[in-house]
Amino acid sequence: MRRSRLILVVFFVAFPLFAQAQFPEPWPKALVPERFWETLVTGNNTYVAGALPYTGLAAQRKDSAGDQHPPVTVLSCSDSRVPPELVFGRAIDDLFVVRAAGNVADTFGIASIEYAISHRWTILIVVLGHERCGAVTEALKPGQPGTRALRALVRRIRRSFDGIKTGKKPDDVRAAVIANAKASADYIVLRSKVIGDAVRDHKVGVVVAYYPMVSGKVERIPWEIPPPVK
Ligand SMILES: [Zn+2]
Repeated sequence: MRRSRLILVVFFVAFPLFAQAQFPEPWPKALVPERFWETLVTGNNTYVAGALPYTGLAAQRKDSAGDQHPPVTVLSCSDSRVPPELVFGRAIDDLFVVRAAGNVADTFGIASIEYAISHRWTILIVVLGHERCGAVTEALKPGQPGTRALRALVRRIRRSFDGIKTGKKPDDVRAAVIANAKASADYIVLRSKVIGDAVRDHKVGVVVAYYPMVSGKVERIPWEIPPPVK
């Protein structure tokens, strides 16, 4: 009886220490985009459970000071409620993040992704849309926003609304967010030869995903590589 109690105590003391030492989970050795997505899912599960143990940031900061090697590029919204490193349970030198309202890439966003690919860092690109996205919700409203830059943003997002119901209900906003995220993935593949070639040659994978606000559990959205525009 005593011995079994001792084993239990050792387990409960040692297990959290062991778990902390493993965070964030090491990236896969094989450079297979799918394996990297699985690692992000594992990190997301830890985030969903509210159990992110960020204890190694000082060491990571020091270790990565000389150079970066982020194997995952994330194109996500600027929304303060969707921070990619937290959402995927990753830390310093893990994610190369491009953020703009509505998770769309402009010329500089594309340049950033090309920069990461040309340095041979990127194995996987994640395009992350999210629930209750303000930019997508604005694009769903009739009329035009007040500035030239905002009009350009909603014009881009609206282009993805072909064939979907553009209402105000949560399901309509979700459909619009998903359509926009898929169109955003199409856009970077079609508008950049560097990104398009890397994705079509399967050197770089693309995952489109949806982030629900309350659960935080990232959902993968089916997406296929668009054929090149001739
Ligand atoms: Zn948003």
